[in-house]
Amino acid sequence: MGSALSRISDEALITVDNLVDRASDLMRPTMRFGVTGLSRAGKTVFITALVHNLLHGGRLPLFKAQQSGRIASAYLEPQPDDGVPRFQYEDHVKALVDERLWPQSTRAISELRLTIEYESASAWNRLLSSGKLSIDIVDYPGEWLLDLPLLKQDFREFSRNAVELARLPARADLSRQWLEKSAECDASLTADETRAREISGLFADYLRACRSDERALSTLPPGRFLMPGDLEGSPALTFAPLPGLPQEGSAPANSLWAMMERRYEAYKSLVVKPFFRDHFARLDRQIILIDAMQAMNAGPEAVQDLERALVDILSCFRPGRNSLLTSLVSRRIDRVLIGATKADHLHHESHDRLEAIVRRLVERATRRAGYAKAEIEVIAMAAVRATREASAKQGKDKLPLIVGTPMKGEKINGDTFDGNGKTGIFPGDLPSDVESFFKQAETRSGKSSPPLNFVRFRPPKLERTAEGVTLSLPHIRLDRAFEFLFGDWLA
Ligand code: GDP
Repeated sequence: MGSALSRISDEALITVDNLVDRASDLMRPTMRFGVTGLSRAGKTVFITALVHNLLHGGRLPLFKAQQSGRIASAYLEPQPDDGVPRFQYEDHVKALVDERLWPQSTRAISELRLTIEYESASAWNRLLSSGKLSIDIVDYPGEWLLDLPLLKQDFREFSRNAVELARLPARADLSRQWLEKSAECDASLTADETRAREISGLFADYLRACRSDERALSTLPPGRFLMPGDLEGSPALTFAPLPGLPQEGSAPANSLWAMMERRYEAYKSLVVKPFFRDHFARLDRQIILIDAMQAMNAGPEAVQDLERALVDILSCFRPGRNSLLTSLVSRRIDRVLIGATKADHLHHESHDRLEAIVRRLVERATRRAGYAKAEIEVIAMAAVRATREASAKQGKDKLPLIVGTPMKGEKINGDTFDGNGKTGIFPGDLPSDVESFFKQAETRSGKSSPPLNFVRFRPPKLERTAEGVTLSLPHIRLDRAFEFLFGDWLA
């Protein structure tokens, strides 16, 4: 009864919110555009490059409104939500362009309003539309999105899933300490705070270890354990799933089990629901950035885990009556773009291959998430292109290279770079046959040599025109992303 009531009030709230949003939309069309991806996937760099290219009229041949000269101007405006931190665009540009350093990554939610003044392509639209579109860019950690499936799980189910995941070969060594400690205590005995903190701390350590560069695992709820924001140390973050809970019956009063269960429910109502209601449910369009190359380099388990995360993420966007989430949303996300970022680490011959591999991954995930055909597009891209291409002769063959300035401290074959000199590397090839990539991934177990040479480069030096004007940030396929995400709203 309680939960039915809270569902109704949530629904009512969302409807009211959406009505308010819509009413102001009549005056001026506003798109709420969500940018997400796991930590370090490239959200901050993407938003900075997006805004920079639109403010400075970047080279965007496949973005029709820009290419045909219909965009009169683009500028930043104060955002509508006063309670949400602003995306610090100016600081990020300064780091990228002036200091040639990558900006500070996303730690929590932030927002920025970009307004575009344009002329419609059709006379009819010109008559009807105001010729102004505001895009409210909402940047939020993908870890938070991966929490939404928890809304459908009670503590018992959450514990079962988490423990099952923790026992997979790619995770067993990392989760051992936490699971052993949990097994030592009887969860039906009286709870004590020290023990709760210890178990929860070990659980959080395990989640963090999964995220390390070598493992590069993706499916790691609850997301605030990795991105606590202002909740660090609060009871709602001091819990952990419990192994070996009985199938039936409820938690004895005052037990550790009861304490963990209550805190898990608090996490859902204090963290997950407000995020869902105040932010997620109000989005119109969404880009999900993934670092597929990092997963490929970490090995087949990381790729499988990325696919598992995509299933969970895409199920949040699935329209359908039997989904708790979408039954609450009246404003629907109608287009989702999966951006496989940092493609500038590959030679262009491999860009289509990266796209093909990620497309297959997404197709498998949409099938597993029970999707009908929705508007999901996949693009291999680099929001900021830090490299250019070259080739080197090797006997009769030409070896494709990428050239850039490796970051200070990066190593190749025992050489350590000082952050100033340019160098060319052979990045390695992705397989041209997608099927063979997945077959290999399924049959290979454990570690094998990484397919790609991965070096972190500094952001590029921006060219200047003869008149001394700095050009906008170079990119790969950002224009295709813009066309898919905004093209129809500017038609
Ligand atoms: P966030 O955590 O999703 O906000 O990730 P960031 O946008 O901060 O990106 C994390 C790191 O990935 C950056 O510091 C860069 O090193 C790298 N990166 C992100 N986007 C690109 C890109 O387009 N090209 C290259 N070469 N590196 C990128």
